[in-house]
Amino acid sequence: MSMFKDIPVEVGVIFEGERIRRNDMQVELGGPTVKQKFELAKVKPMNEIEDGKVTIIGPDLKDMKEGGAFPFGILVEAAGAKLDAGLEGVLERRIHGYLNYIEGFMHLNQRYDIWIRIGKKSFQKGLNSFEPIGKVLYRLFKSELPIVEKLQITFITDPAKLDEMTPIAIQAYESRDAKARGLKDSEVEEFYGCALCQSFAPSHVCVITPQRYSNCGAISWFDGKASASIDPKGPVFAIPRGEMINEEKGEFSGVNEAAKKRSMGEVNKVWLYTAFDHPHTSCGCFEAIAFYIPEVDGLGVVQRNFKGAAVNGLPFSTLADSAAGGRQIDGFHGMSIEYMRSKKFFAADGGWNRIVWVPKEVKEKVKEFIPADVVDKIATEEDAKNVDELKAFLKAKNHPIVARWEAEAAPAAAETAAVTISEEAAGTMMPVATAGSLPIMAGGFKIILKDAKIYANKVIIQTVKDEKKP
Ligand code: SF4
Repeated sequence: MSMFKDIPVEVGVIFEGERIRRNDMQVELGGPTVKQKFELAKVKPMNEIEDGKVTIIGPDLKDMKEGGAFPFGILVEAAGAKLDAGLEGVLERRIHGYLNYIEGFMHLNQRYDIWIRIGKKSFQKGLNSFEPIGKVLYRLFKSELPIVEKLQITFITDPAKLDEMTPIAIQAYESRDAKARGLKDSEVEEFYGCALCQSFAPSHVCVITPQRYSNCGAISWFDGKASASIDPKGPVFAIPRGEMINEEKGEFSGVNEAAKKRSMGEVNKVWLYTAFDHPHTSCGCFEAIAFYIPEVDGLGVVQRNFKGAAVNGLPFSTLADSAAGGRQIDGFHGMSIEYMRSKKFFAADGGWNRIVWVPKEVKEKVKEFIPADVVDKIATEEDAKNVDELKAFLKAKNHPIVARWEAEAAPAAAETAAVTISEEAAGTMMPVATAGSLPIMAGGFKIILKDAKIYANKVIIQTVKDEKKP
């Protein structure tokens, strides 16, 4: 039943996690085809807020062409005696949760990358203006967070206004992120967990530490702390760090316990500083994904808005599908861009010495955090478009991974090795490859094997010759 009689559609937690397919959508706001998009929360003095005011700058929903995608911004301005700028990140992330309570309203991602769809059915029921959407947002903020005393909301669809506001939003995100840098995981007693994404990824819990930002890139350790203190029953909660089990991999007893409890026993062990064995779970709204490239024994990273295929031939969507849903997949790691600025960024795997490919846009963003002796040795899409080109680039630049190949090649010098599994062993054969979702590209088709386990009587490992060469 709807929470609000004057709103034309139902509103409730039951609609969290609702997906709206392209054919069922009235309009799309932001999303992958639209450049101008953001959501921002700002804390203001009391006298600058008109409580309950909803403003629409630009065309309203009913004026938008059915099936179209439009530029979009949401500005939430709040005031309260106990509110300060340190809580802006917390307020901002609630926009995602509250909007998803609305029937026929899908909100994905965060900050500069929001992606919204309004369903046709809800539009036909009367959800044809931002006015009722603003009312719902206002009421949920006020009822769920009493610390918010006054609130006004602005929806922006006018491209000129979006041009003016977008740099302001980007600057606000950057100053928030910068504040959280410098503190170490070993210097705090508590980490924070966030279960907001469980509506889409039931076994997912983000573990937010000073040196490991949330997957979505929208909640820092400071935001987690603030959120847990103002709304202890909310989706963000404190995780006592507990005993340090493995410093290198980033394993803490408190994190393991929290992951086990919040994932209903699905996840028992989380290693915070590695993409392998027990990596952090991946939800669905991570900003980027790290993926293992076996041919070079290195890791690539690709961000959500990257157009085209990553260096291994797979687009972000396929790579994301391989890990999303709250799973732990060896060699895949949904993560934030901010994590790349951390000294603990895949520290157990070799850190930046293990990163071999990153799109130029991301590399530019994090350049000053990449060690000077490796920064020019990491390929972008301009240096390598496939694994062969990547190998050649890494060799030419003498990337630190090349020394790793040499060390590994020494014991297995033979060009071709064949391993035959005995008949006796075959009865208890172990899978030679397992994957939550294994994509295979062949002849213009993509075949996805879900939860695949592949068994083989014989595994042949041989050097691949370039067939185009004479
Ligand atoms: S990605 Fe993590 S921190 Fe961000 S909303 Fe989802 S669960 Fe919370």
